Amino acid sequence: MKIIGIIGAGQMGNGIAHIAALAGYKVVLTDIKQEFAEKGLATITKNMNRQVQKEKISQADMDKALASITIAVGLEHHANCDLVIEAAVEKEDIKIALLKELCPHLKPEALLASNTSSISITRLGSATDRPEKFIGMHFMNPVPIMKLVELIPSIATSKETFEIIEALAIKMGKDPAVSEDFPGFIANRILMPMINEAVFTLYEGIGSIKAIDKTMVLGTNHPMGPLTLADFIGLDTCLAIMNVLYNEFNDSKYRPCPLLVKYVEAGWLGVKTGKGFYDYSGDGEPTPTR
Ligand code: NAD
Repeated sequence: MKIIGIIGAGQMGNGIAHIAALAGYKVVLTDIKQEFAEKGLATITKNMNRQVQKEKISQADMDKALASITIAVGLEHHANCDLVIEAAVEKEDIKIALLKELCPHLKPEALLASNTSSISITRLGSATDRPEKFIGMHFMNPVPIMKLVELIPSIATSKETFEIIEALAIKMGKDPAVSEDFPGFIANRILMPMINEAVFTLYEGIGSIKAIDKTMVLGTNHPMGPLTLADFIGLDTCLAIMNVLYNEFNDSKYRPCPLLVKYVEAGWLGVKTGKGFYDYSGDGEPTPTR
């Protein structure tokens, strides 16, 4: 494997491009607009600069990695890739449409992975011309820092595909855990209902934003509170995952909190839009929005 394609230069896509380039692969990073791809590359540059300052990587590592990343618009740019990792928005219709558009451009032997947080890998794989070469590769945010990647073979994924992707994940510095292909896999099956419950706790007036986060940090030793974490993940992504859990298990215990829906309707999506449960526009500490 030499060339890795990544679709979507957002929070996750640029993080995956970052670690793939540092691991020595050529990277083709695409998005729907040139400015989105450029923003992704700017984030990679900023984050690698921080790693150089902290002496985690050398300036030469950074220069080499940046030189190996190409940004572009259009799925035809993935024609030479040995693996393409899809990291576009968490919407099944968009993912299926782009996979269908992508497949005719790929080499026959190319592998495909999706970074989806919750959508069925079996269903996504079925939309391609190569279900046996398709796998879930669920990185955690922020990708360059978080050690875990969940690997999710569908019922159609071949053993060979799994083994190649497992070796790649390790080469990228990650420690993989394997999950069966059921909604939310392992991480989000447990994490998202907790975040949703934190939003219900706010919605029902049981605690303020600060009190809820403080309780979970100081009381249960979480490194950050659930509402802060939701802002980092993106409230649109959190809502999309809850909707998948709710619709696919058909169980009311996964009902998304109406207040989470309201924040998403307002476009208050968290850190990426400057405002979510906290407002990030000031210079100092983020301030709660309720
Ligand atoms: P994001 O909104 O930051 O980025 C998504 C990017 O995809 C945007 O740049 C958008 O322009 C691009 N895009 C949309 N449609 C596209 C298309 N048709 N072709 C190419 N690019 C397209 O979202 P994100 O947080 O990076 O999430 C991306 C994926 O990763 C989602 O499936 C999400 O569930 C998953 N994920 C997210 C997190 C997280 O913490 N945010 C963690 C793990 C997995």
